[in-house]
Amino acid sequence: MARFAALGLADPLLRVLKNRGYKAPTPIQAKAIPSALRGRDIVGIAQTGTGKTAAFALPMLQNIGRTRPETPPPTRGLVLCPTRELAVQTGKRFAAYGRQLTISSYVLYGGVPVEPQIAALERGVDIVVATPGRLRDLHRRGHVSLDRVAHVVLDEADRLLDQGFLDDIRRIVGALPRERQSMLFSATFPAGVERLAARLVRDPVRIHVGPVAKPVASARQQVLYVKQLDKPALTAHLVDRQPGRCLVFVRTKRGADRLCTLLQRAGVAADALHGDRSQAARSAVVQALREGATRVVVATDVAARGLDIAELDLVVNHDLPADPDTYVHRVGRVGRAGREGLALSLCDETTGGLLRDIERHTGAALTPNFAHPWHSHDAVPHADASGAARSGRRRKRSRRRR
Ligand code: AMP
Repeated sequence: MARFAALGLADPLLRVLKNRGYKAPTPIQAKAIPSALRGRDIVGIAQTGTGKTAAFALPMLQNIGRTRPETPPPTRGLVLCPTRELAVQTGKRFAAYGRQLTISSYVLYGGVPVEPQIAALERGVDIVVATPGRLRDLHRRGHVSLDRVAHVVLDEADRLLDQGFLDDIRRIVGALPRERQSMLFSATFPAGVERLAARLVRDPVRIHVGPVAKPVASARQQVLYVKQLDKPALTAHLVDRQPGRCLVFVRTKRGADRLCTLLQRAGVAADALHGDRSQAARSAVVQALREGATRVVVATDVAARGLDIAELDLVVNHDLPADPDTYVHRVGRVGRAGREGLALSLCDETTGGLLRDIERHTGAALTPNFAHPWHSHDAVPHADASGAARSGRRRKRSRRRR
């Protein structure tokens, strides 16, 4: 087994890793860290949960730590993230990993007052972690200088593009020095990401961890076939039986609120996470889940993006996602860094097509639980039906015991 010390990391970082209980580098860390320390560009195909944040954060901290200190410090490191939540989480990792170094970092994202961010930038920040919209805005207004950036990371590049940040990214990258180290990480590699990578990196080291778009292996994946009408009661039952921390995915913001209210009425400590809630409320939800005050979070995909709650035990796909990549991302929340987790997907009489897409794309056949009391034969898609399964015909009433 590889050891962190063998990758070329310096003592202050090794001590922090030891304190955090990281025993050995994950595969992406073992592959990326030595090259990144040498200043090579990196293109990494890796999902959340693989340890990719440390794979770029540790070399960035070490490389910046080697430069001569200046007061105020120029911004030498830049990380672009698709969502506020991921930016905040990444910022926390930088703070944690860099604890024993005197390297400052700051997180910039939209939806909150800009003044404290401007004040922090004026004081000088070594590493900026940002969502592209707010960064471009602050750059345009002259509050952040990018001409000394020597290391840039585009994290979750596929999602950056999904969120419509291409134009902002182009402008930001255009303002960076040509001499720099660039790293790009993405769970999937559609043509748009390939084009973005071609624009960003030079002669990169390419790293794949695990097959593209396959959920991390430590999550058990099951499907429950259930009638659409029964889904809320089933989800309530599932999270009630599971004592740990759960993340429940739904398709819409209103759906999140509705299901959350239902769970709360059933006595479950639940809260909702979606884009209509204020940034403060969203941060509070994540914090409460971390601390155990909330046990179940009902979330939309955008809001849950990149969230790292280390002890997540169960993910419920209350609504199946419209595309398989999203499924991969959702399931990547459980069973992280070797912990086993469970991902349960509810498939109703209208979503058999989505389920098949997911199975085709990930190459995984989700284990059906036909023995479950809520199982409805009516919701099982026909092998020959395209998409929507036989919704109208109710040949067999489902046995619903409670
Ligand atoms: P990431 O994919 O960067 O979001 O990391 C997923 C989780 O794994 C986080 O909770 C990290 O703190 C944790 N982690 C990262 N690297 C290691 C490691 N080498 N050993 C144990 N846990 C790790």
